[in-house]
Amino acid sequence: MTKSLNRVVVSRSALINNFNVCVRKCGGIPIMAMVKADAYGHGMEECARVFARSGAKAFGVAEVVEGVRLRRSGIREPIFILAGLLPEFFEAVIDYDLTPVLVDGEMVESLAAEADAHGKKLNVHLKVDAGMGRQGCRLSDAPAVVRRIVRRDSLHLAGLMAHFPMADDPVHGNSDRVLADFLQMANKLQRTQLKDCRLHIANSGGIFSVGGAELDMVRLGISLYGYGADGIEPGMTGGRLQPAMSFVSRVLQVREVPAGTGLGYGHLFTTSKTTRLAVLPVGYEDGYLRVLSNKAEVLLHGRRAPVVGRISMNLSLVDVSEIQEVRPGDEAVLLGRQGNERISADEIAGWMETISYEVLCLFGHCNTREYRE
Ligand SMILES: *Cc1c(COP(=O)(O)O)cnc(C)c1O
Repeated sequence: MTKSLNRVVVSRSALINNFNVCVRKCGGIPIMAMVKADAYGHGMEECARVFARSGAKAFGVAEVVEGVRLRRSGIREPIFILAGLLPEFFEAVIDYDLTPVLVDGEMVESLAAEADAHGKKLNVHLKVDAGMGRQGCRLSDAPAVVRRIVRRDSLHLAGLMAHFPMADDPVHGNSDRVLADFLQMANKLQRTQLKDCRLHIANSGGIFSVGGAELDMVRLGISLYGYGADGIEPGMTGGRLQPAMSFVSRVLQVREVPAGTGLGYGHLFTTSKTTRLAVLPVGYEDGYLRVLSNKAEVLLHGRRAPVVGRISMNLSLVDVSEIQEVRPGDEAVLLGRQGNERISADEIAGWMETISYEVLCLFGHCNTREYRE
């Protein structure tokens, strides 16, 4: 099969390394590997296989459709539906043995009835809003919802969870408060209600910057893919996380233009000197967004070269005046390492004014992936 000139390369050994760094960091607390969003662009099925072999105890996705896909791929561990549940999916939840996360009491009775009808006892977790201000039931409502769940014979309350809104900001964040409020709520519940019930709150930022947040399970995403949570450098986290994704393109053409040449749509850049340009077959269609125009850098022959002019749908220009050896066919690294240079998703995120998560999803979703050891 003919391959695209743009490839996202995912390193399996980096994924395994990152999992092991996190295992050491959490001291053996069970890890739920977050593989939603196609494993942050790294490929859900492949990453889940790698993490399962490394010892992941559960997997987390957003929607039921992802859970079904994951189960069909052969994953046997519990699969949590963390965000997108509606009654129309109950049948699939039961058929595919998925673990629903309830967000209030609304669906308790209908879910219990569905489980009853199938003669099954279903593990459910309850998501509590302990300060995130997004999804879940209010802390003060949690005891009533818990009572509603434990009253049903066909449901088992297997977990209570919350989520940190500012785990990545240990200085100005509210994580200690959120953790304390969550635990206080859980402590007020009766022991009989919490039989075999796991408490979990920590994402990657939680394990690296909130003391004592591991509780009974941790839900890790970005760290497994090699990045600190937003703003936290891998170095700071004490482990050696390795970014697992690279994004590589190829040079199509090398051409020289005189001073005063307007480049591309809108002539966003005009050359001030004779300039050698490398044309790359990459554009916003590939997740290399227009906001990167005149901002991004790419690696050629192990050196940095600036993107000049407007990034278009399928083409970008790079100023290679300083790298005379560039030829058509050469590899251009947009994300990742080449020689001694590296461009990280955090750096690209800086140019885009966003976070590494978004960069990884964009590149991963828009391009053909390959896996390397
Ligand atoms: C995505 C997600 C996580 C993982 O967050 P990271 O910052 O990527 O580690 C944890 N918990 C929930 C509820 C999530 O949606």
